[in-house]
Amino acid sequence: MPWQKSLQALGELSHSEPMANHTTLAVGGAATWYFKPHNKETLSQALALTPKNIKLLPLGRGSNLLVPDHGFDGMVIDLGMLNTIQINAHRLTAQAGSRMSKIAQTAANAGLRGLEFMATVPGDLGGGIAMNAGAFGMQASDTCLQAEVMLRDGSEQILSKSQLNMVYRHSQIPKQSIITAASFELQTADQQDIRDVMRDMRHKRSQTQPLAMPNCGSVFKNPEGDYAARLIEAVGLKGKRMGGAQISEIHANFIVNHGNAHSDDVTALIQLAQQSVFEKFAIKLEPEVRILEDLQ
Ligand SMILES: Cc1cc2nc3c(=O)[nH]c(=O)nc-3n(C[C@H](O)[C@H](O)[C@H](O)COP(=O)(O)OP(=O)(O)OC[C@H]3O[C@@H](n4cnc5c(N)ncnc54)[C@H](O)[C@@H]3O)c2cc1C
Repeated sequence: MPWQKSLQALGELSHSEPMANHTTLAVGGAATWYFKPHNKETLSQALALTPKNIKLLPLGRGSNLLVPDHGFDGMVIDLGMLNTIQINAHRLTAQAGSRMSKIAQTAANAGLRGLEFMATVPGDLGGGIAMNAGAFGMQASDTCLQAEVMLRDGSEQILSKSQLNMVYRHSQIPKQSIITAASFELQTADQQDIRDVMRDMRHKRSQTQPLAMPNCGSVFKNPEGDYAARLIEAVGLKGKRMGGAQISEIHANFIVNHGNAHSDDVTALIQLAQQSVFEKFAIKLEPEVRILEDLQ
């Protein structure tokens, strides 16, 4: 039986899947294969059956990913069905496809603090660990204990926080591996206090970010001691448009899609911002958004 037929019994498999439908920026060409396993066990079986020359791309909400217009020649792994969240005393364990906002809410309902910022980050936990997501002075690595990863052959490994080597917006996992779950050690606090903190964070976000248009969050990492948005504004690029993409008029470290943007438009704006900031300030802006072509 060809491997594709076997995978159809283990999850949903599609061919030529447009990635614009799976990224919050709503750009990007097709993935050759797109696989959504029923659960962790079927993911493991599928990885063992998939030919080893097929590259994998684990996907969460697609809220930090720029896929090129020519697409991805490999197999995207959609972890949306791996979404359980469990609490045992102070420890919260969630599967990779759990929305971070739901995790924050679940922790708050249990009177546990330490993950409030997740209420404002629109991704899934796997992406949150891979990116060491953070906001408002908090980040995933503050409370993360360990992550479970699945290797390319379908076998599993547990990586402690120190093995994950979590730094600003980056974690280290074995090449072509997939985070399937992570655990956090949290602290007891008053439920209403936690909810109030989350509400304030959400409110601040809604005032300062262009949330009504497709975007991918912060495009660049903040350079040490400075802000990417300030630098981009200082070189006069706030509001700059290329094709259907624009450096947001609300927040200069965001690029928004007016509905007809191509990935190339976004890339052109990224390069223009990098070049202009370097010429004026001799600072190299490093993308925070994961540019798929750079990952391959
Ligand atoms: C409006 C908006 C606001 C945002 N605000 C913030 C913020 O405050 N702080 C912040 O840190 N980020 C922010 N982001 C960016 C983004 O939400 C985070 O980086 C988030 O952690 C990405 O999660 P995701 O599920 O969308 O990952 P994806 O975009 O799907 O993937 C991102 C990267 O992680 C990899 N990945 C995803 N899942 C896995 C997995 N299971 N195993 C291994 N690798 C995986 C992907 O291959 C890719 O390289 C924002 C984005 C938007 C659109």
